[in-house]
Amino acid sequence: MTPRFPRWSCSRAIMRKPRGAVGSGHRKQAASKKRRKQHALGSSQIAPSDPDACTGRIPECPEAPAGPARQQEEVVSQASVSPYHLFRDSAEVTAFREGLLNWYDREKRDLPWRRRAEDEVDPDRRAYAVWVSEVMLQQTQVATVINYYTRWMQKWPTLQDLASASLEEVNQLWAGLGYYSRGRRLQEGARKVVEELGGHVPRTAETLQRLLPGVGRYTAGAIASIAFGQATGVVDGNVVRVLCRVRAIGADPSSAPVFQQLWSFAQQLVDPVRPGDFNQAAMELGATVCTPQRPLCKRCPVQRLCRARQRVEQEQLSASRSLPGNPDVEECALGTGQCQLCPPPSEPWDQTLGVANFPRKASRRPPREECSATCVLEQPKALGGARILLVQRPSSGLLAGLWEFPSVTLESPVQHQHKALLQELQSWAGPLPAAQLRHLGEVVHTFSHIKVTYQVYGLALEGQTLASTPPGARWLTREEFHTAAVAMKKVFRVYEGQKPGTCKGSKRSPMSVPLGRKRPSKGQQVLDGFLRPCIPVDVPSLSSATH
Ligand code: SF4
Ligand SMILES: [Zn+2]
Repeated sequence: MTPRFPRWSCSRAIMRKPRGAVGSGHRKQAASKKRRKQHALGSSQIAPSDPDACTGRIPECPEAPAGPARQQEEVVSQASVSPYHLFRDSAEVTAFREGLLNWYDREKRDLPWRRRAEDEVDPDRRAYAVWVSEVMLQQTQVATVINYYTRWMQKWPTLQDLASASLEEVNQLWAGLGYYSRGRRLQEGARKVVEELGGHVPRTAETLQRLLPGVGRYTAGAIASIAFGQATGVVDGNVVRVLCRVRAIGADPSSAPVFQQLWSFAQQLVDPVRPGDFNQAAMELGATVCTPQRPLCKRCPVQRLCRARQRVEQEQLSASRSLPGNPDVEECALGTGQCQLCPPPSEPWDQTLGVANFPRKASRRPPREECSATCVLEQPKALGGARILLVQRPSSGLLAGLWEFPSVTLESPVQHQHKALLQELQSWAGPLPAAQLRHLGEVVHTFSHIKVTYQVYGLALEGQTLASTPPGARWLTREEFHTAAVAMKKVFRVYEGQKPGTCKGSKRSPMSVPLGRKRPSKGQQVLDGFLRPCIPVDVPSLSSATH
């Protein structure tokens, strides 16, 4: 996953507030028009009337945080960005804000974290409520998050409650949500706030990003704007899509010039009076109207300002008049190949895609491939019922602290895995009958940039009693197993499908049990080390559909 944009999604409305039920910010709207207009006039990226004047650097936006988030920005020359992509004047900026906020007041989904953010008077509790939601929404659909969020806030209603929880409890509640490092980092952040910051969440995007583990630019901006009212913009996958369409940006959105331009637009556009609502509105628009496929342009509040839409309409008009070419279509003045925001000449406009010509898909490297052998080791006749051996992953890195079946990472996908796995199993459970270790099938799982193929083995210890269990291992009953924070439960489903009397249909690999002489790898540690660089922190993905 591309580590840039946390929420990239198109999930449709779950619940809607009644039309009359709008937030308190709505009431402030009329009174604040004047302030908003002043802010728009002060915006730094309005296209100058003289196209030649658009050269030089992007000026600093007055509301932008001055810390690392800003320092990381590269300076992109405006010489290669046509005014075609910029907002023409402050009136356009104001129209964008007002259109979006009015629409949001009418159409926003009624979501539990929004209710908390609106109702909670304590700023630290409010920030915590936003923080949890933003972390959960990274890489995960709204519909899935609602249930997890509700249970999380019931179990740990305050930062102090979360700070005193164990990692295992956190993992257990997080089970099924994926990207377990998110929960761990959230808890680390809560502990830092409680133990080092006097229980107070930093109040600005800059300090949030600088002081809290796992909080990147997007999350910091979201917390600061929604919980504390800081006028700071945010860019997630939904915002990328909306802005790329509104400003006809067809270059790779993960490229540095586009990335910076999008953040600059977000900062320019954010409403100074209702920054939290504005940011949520922009993301909501991308999630419910300006969706990746089949966007609902006719319902879009910023349709009049959308260059992608304008282009489609003009092309349709030209086609209906049977005009040769597209003489009326306004295009980037710099011409193909020179503009940093336009698509490359090799990717011309595709009429069949319409507005979905924007944004261009970010280039992604294919995931690296890895192979692991893993075994469900069971004592079916243990006292008190069948028990399964689980071992705990290290407390840091991918799937930190989770329980999993004993595994070894393999350099070769097929060879030597039986012996390597047997040695790994024996390091936990003592001498085992090698002949009963059977290959059952395979499971493929993709973690961020790594695709792991698990060769699944099973070993049932009929009548055999094992000696003591070493630290880091546990024999769980099936009931315990199903409620524990266990990684790779689908491995167990393969094992279940292979048991006599069951017919769950897991695929049996044609591969026979291989025997070999290769020394075993370091098992969990190796797997952890191998996967560690891929842990998403502030997660952003251009390709996942989440929020
Ligand atoms: S008009 Fe269509 S393409 Fe443009 S922002 Fe609205 S929904 Fe997206
Ligand atoms: Zn251009």
